[in-house]
Amino acid sequence: MKEIIYRVEVNTKEQLEQAVKIDDFQFIYAPIRLLDGNTPDKFRIIAVPPVYLADCEEKCAKRLGELQSLGFEHGLAHTAGHVHLLKKAGFKVHGGFRLNITNSRAMEFYEEQGISDAVLSLELTMSLAKGIMHNAPVGLIAYGKLPLMITRRCPVKDGKPCNNGTYCGGKITDRKGNELEIICSNTCELLNPDRLILSDRQEDLSCFDFAVLKLAYEENVSEILDMYLESRKPEGRLTRGLYYRGVE
Ligand SMILES: [Zn+2]
Repeated sequence: MKEIIYRVEVNTKEQLEQAVKIDDFQFIYAPIRLLDGNTPDKFRIIAVPPVYLADCEEKCAKRLGELQSLGFEHGLAHTAGHVHLLKKAGFKVHGGFRLNITNSRAMEFYEEQGISDAVLSLELTMSLAKGIMHNAPVGLIAYGKLPLMITRRCPVKDGKPCNNGTYCGGKITDRKGNELEIICSNTCELLNPDRLILSDRQEDLSCFDFAVLKLAYEENVSEILDMYLESRKPEGRLTRGLYYRGVE
């Protein structure tokens, strides 16, 4: 079995501080709000801009330009628009799961746009994901509370939008008593209450060029990585996402 290469996507300052100390991570996806000149290991940081640029494109382009001159080289594209924005700022472009690459033609299209690698769509089954033709490396989201929806207004702060830079760190409870965590930036991302876990599916993960551990508010980064390195499946509720759903 091929060795699995891990990447991590951080959401908090503390997670970033821990992640840069772990050499196992090939790349660290980090929101641009957490990055500055003092961030170590810039060579393996992939700067993540906000998902929606409608109200902040100019500001974001300016910030990306600043980060590029500080020595950051890599950026994450959530959409085709981000590909353009990142290229213009001089970044190497990495495709995120939101590009929703579900077939080989989509992969080819983004390769033509110049992406250096891509995370495949969360909607693919494992066997379809394995069948995607690609020249650039492809990976999967292998861990995390996946987003259920993105809203413009924050359900915690009385419906007022959480502005860029303020993070309510909130959660809401659904009618079944499940706690849905929220990642707030200029949008609010409501997360699935159950974690996607594939730590015991090493054989499948090894078919891809890399596997991404996507963090929300986890406090211990190495604990999550160790679970994968040791192929341990945790107790309690978890989800397999759509990877093993339906007819393959
Ligand atoms: Zn909020």
